[in-house]
Amino acid sequence: MHEERRRDPVYRTITRMTAFALAPVACLVTPGRARQTACRWALSLRFPAETLDGLHPDARVAFEAARTRALWWHGELIGLTSGYRTAARQAVLYAEEIHRSGSAEAARRWVLPPHESRHVAGTAMDVRPTEGARWLEEHGARHDLYRVYDNEWWHFEYRPEGRPRRLPHPGVSGAAMDQA
Ligand SMILES: [Zn+2]
Repeated sequence: MHEERRRDPVYRTITRMTAFALAPVACLVTPGRARQTACRWALSLRFPAETLDGLHPDARVAFEAARTRALWWHGELIGLTSGYRTAARQAVLYAEEIHRSGSAEAARRWVLPPHESRHVAGTAMDVRPTEGARWLEEHGARHDLYRVYDNEWWHFEYRPEGRPRRLPHPGVSGAAMDQA
């Protein structure tokens, strides 16, 4: 864990330098969008296992624009731990959380059932590392990306309708907050 943290600044620097180095080639391949292409290539080397597939097209555009800005101008890495999930996958996660926590009510503090999860809708993104999440919390609004839960620093949602009210945890609705 400690070793991982010490390596983080090195990864940041290497990934950013890689993006800069690839920019001229990216310019040939995608004229006018060189920065984004170069950042995408560099990030895919740093996070080879991640996939943006299945994200809502608008959410994907917003997320790519945000992570390009983070890397190119601020030298911050934003990796995608979990984006789109199938309803079946979300159902398994939900069932596992019920088993782990002992009740549906407790499970909902961390994992929502498929019909409520924005991961299934393709508009939620779990990111890493913490520094990248902090950057996104600060700058994400420009791309309609917001942190929505107090207990999940990694979970962001694409909300083009504007900044949502921050909730203590999943499974509590804004209306319920008003009544409380
Ligand atoms: Zn999430």
